[in-house]
Amino acid sequence: MKAEIIAVGSELLTPTRVDTNSLFLTEQLNRLGIEVVRKLVIGDLRSQIRDAFREALDRVELVISIGGLGPTEDDLTRETVADLLGRKLIQSDAILRGIQARFRRLGRAMPEANLRQAMVPEGATVLENSRGTAPGLWLETNGHTVILLPGPPHELRTIFTQQVEPKLARRTSGVRLFGRELRVAGMAESDVDQRIAPIYTRYTDVRTTLLASPGEIQIHLRLWSADEAASETLLNEMVERITMALGENVFTTEGESLEQVVAHELTLNDATIAVAESCTGGLLAERLTSIPGSSTYFLGGVVCYSNNLKSAWVDVPADLIEAKGAVSVEVARALAEGIRRRSGATLGLGVTGIAGPGGGSTEKPVGTVHLALAEASGCKERSLRFPGDRERIRWQASQSALDMVRRYFLYTSQSKPQSKG
Ligand code: ATP
Ligand code: MG
Repeated sequence: MKAEIIAVGSELLTPTRVDTNSLFLTEQLNRLGIEVVRKLVIGDLRSQIRDAFREALDRVELVISIGGLGPTEDDLTRETVADLLGRKLIQSDAILRGIQARFRRLGRAMPEANLRQAMVPEGATVLENSRGTAPGLWLETNGHTVILLPGPPHELRTIFTQQVEPKLARRTSGVRLFGRELRVAGMAESDVDQRIAPIYTRYTDVRTTLLASPGEIQIHLRLWSADEAASETLLNEMVERITMALGENVFTTEGESLEQVVAHELTLNDATIAVAESCTGGLLAERLTSIPGSSTYFLGGVVCYSNNLKSAWVDVPADLIEAKGAVSVEVARALAEGIRRRSGATLGLGVTGIAGPGGGSTEKPVGTVHLALAEASGCKERSLRFPGDRERIRWQASQSALDMVRRYFLYTSQSKPQSKG
């Protein structure tokens, strides 16, 4: 079954609000085997609402709208759809009693305007709203289904889960969406594509999408099918081939973030980590502590921006900074070793670089980043040059630093390598 979603609300056409409800709906519909083929965001205007529904009904079996069911003058979805489908609006005494009771519980008088919410298009099924006043509505028309849901996200979710989903589930033919998400660090999108295109182009039933973000390429595999066992086998086979082609650059086959994978490895290996950050300004510490339970592996970190504090807090020799510059492999190494010694952690991570936009030179341009990972038997360094603005450079530096930790465990982990991807 194919569906379209219409988000109604002029506020959604401003630069400050975004239609998030349709993401929830899409996820839920996909689970039911319903594909969302188009989404539309329109203003609170009768003509726009009317056109949107008329056109969607020409194309697909299921049309779901969001918003515009409230009591105010700009809430026009109910009336406009009733009019388009040639249904009269009839007052529902049951809904009215519900709204009145809700206001009584809140100790307020029901405004006249809320009467509109008790109006139901002829023949519609009312989807009770336990979280708000406006119920959702379900209409059948010439083999098409139209579902109107209110805009507030908690109301929409509740109605969908409690009432829409069970009704839709009875309809669908058993076709569902199966998927996998691989993530890759340390490779450019074009390189990833070059290596895996010969694989994924042979799986014509699977939709493969590559999404690039700074320091990470995601590979999404999606397959619509009624056959669970065959789908899982096919996707597993594809994942295996792609992982073979990309090697240890794949850090997850389960859509996890890099910090999740690193957290998992640290925990599994009873290892601890501490960080000394300059250009990332605490971003590494933030990412490492964003995972619940991080206190078992994260001992702490320092943000030592000034040369003085690099020396005072993690014992980077002042003459080393003088001789090599604060942004150098040597200082990255001293940061990593210093924080490891000071904290007693299994691993010490040091980062120094130039995030820009100022401060670059010909030998050390903006985007230059040095990373070091110190452990009992030595220290590894990486020197990188990232493109982009300050925010991207800092993010990529944190990503590469976390990736160094992950790669370290590929060779030393207690678990079998690639257990997480
Ligand atoms: P109400 O009874 O609250 O007026 P409604 O069905 O008329 O409900 P809207 O007035 O369109 O819904 O939206 C109410 C609120 O719900 C908006 O202020 C907004 O915060 C949120 N909202 C509406 N549509 C969306 C959407 N598509 N995604 C996320 N939030 C939304
Ligand atoms: Mg409203």
